Amino acid sequence: MVAMKELMEDVARRITAYDDGLDERPVAPSSEALEALRQFDEPLPEGPSAPEGVLARLDALGSPATVGNAGGRYFGFVIGGALPASLAAHLLATAWDNNSGLHACAPAGAHIEEIARRWLADILRLPPDCGAGFVTGGSMANFTALAAARHAVLRRHGWEVERDGLFGAPPITVVVSEEAHSSIPKALGLLGLGRRRVTTVPADNQGRMRADALPPLDGPAIVCTQAGNVNTGAIDPVGEIHERLAGSGAWIHVDGAFGLWARACPERARLVEGVERADSWSVDGHKWLNTPYDCGIALVREAEDLKAAMTTSAAYLVAGDEREPCHYVPELSRRARGVDVWAALKALGRSGMAELVARNCRQARRFAEGLREAGHEVLNDVVLNQVLVSFGGPETTRRVIARIQADGTCWCSGTEWQGRTAMRISVSSWRTTDDDVERSLEAMLRIAGEEARAA
Ligand SMILES: *Cc1c(COP(=O)(O)O)cnc(C)c1O
Repeated sequence: MVAMKELMEDVARRITAYDDGLDERPVAPSSEALEALRQFDEPLPEGPSAPEGVLARLDALGSPATVGNAGGRYFGFVIGGALPASLAAHLLATAWDNNSGLHACAPAGAHIEEIARRWLADILRLPPDCGAGFVTGGSMANFTALAAARHAVLRRHGWEVERDGLFGAPPITVVVSEEAHSSIPKALGLLGLGRRRVTTVPADNQGRMRADALPPLDGPAIVCTQAGNVNTGAIDPVGEIHERLAGSGAWIHVDGAFGLWARACPERARLVEGVERADSWSVDGHKWLNTPYDCGIALVREAEDLKAAMTTSAAYLVAGDEREPCHYVPELSRRARGVDVWAALKALGRSGMAELVARNCRQARRFAEGLREAGHEVLNDVVLNQVLVSFGGPETTRRVIARIQADGTCWCSGTEWQGRTAMRISVSSWRTTDDDVERSLEAMLRIAGEEARAA
């Protein structure tokens, strides 16, 4: 018999110790820790091991080889941390081990997911009755929302795509921005619409789709817009795009993986006005809402369009009046993702989420200001939580990025932006304090200064 209590107390202790160590440890794992991962390379065990031994081994070898992005000084990609309430709720819901695809298997999971749907629509100021699918992240949210789009634009032209497929269907014009996130072409490929069979609209110097460059549209059409460019944080003029397309019947999708959260912050909301006029939106829980992985949400104005694209039907799946989570997402069996969202929103409240977004945006502006004062070039208008900085030529910038990563005070990644090599700073964690920003800025300026003197 497994000593459940001891094991769970052990894991709680280990989680706490990991968390306590985050502030002291280098953000990137050491080369020794990475080297030690090889100790996992053993043959499949012939017999059983005690659970506490399994956990101890994972902690001894795995924990040191993690990236410390749960701490406050990780600014790579757009990552965020995990709010304590959301992490704890995630762990409890995992212990329930309910199959949250079906109400009959997971009444709590299904019910809480419905509350999370309602709260999301409220805080993001989207239609209260919009449909929501709780998926693994922004990529699947784009896929899921675009499947609803494919359904709706073809149905209006008398074609049932779920039943009859795409062969022989009226062609769909798909419009994307040249700055679309890589998950958009991927979703289009999965949907049979083609990664390259698209009309590409140019973007401006901040990466916003140029509404004046939209092609005239009639017939089935889907326009993929974006709120929150991964490099600059810029937001497409969705309201203007909507106006230009009025009467065309085109479906407007907004990839708002992190940028949509600006709608939850009165101070930043002006940037994302007009976004509510779209037909569908995707947003990540695991980015700015700071839920654990994996958590993203597809939101669709007409819930029926989402349901038509995603309905699972089988005689053994009893249908009642309750929300059946599996009718809104590609999967059937799955974990209770809505719980993580519910717990994050319950813990933060409207004001907490507004403060989190405002604080991270202010911290991004502080980075930009500190870097500019030291003579470095900030390449974007810092409207949200993203900063792009050049430390000189491409070689120098790349060297500075590598040294910042190795230094361990903080972690930032590199990118190419409109022909320039840049370092990206993305501030998206509940944990980032102003002191974290100052410590990180100091490390960046010290390293960039040393490189400049060496050159
Ligand atoms: C992160 C991101 C995605 C992909 O989201 P995942 O959760 O990583 O699948 C899509 N679009 C944008 C704009 C993003 O920032």
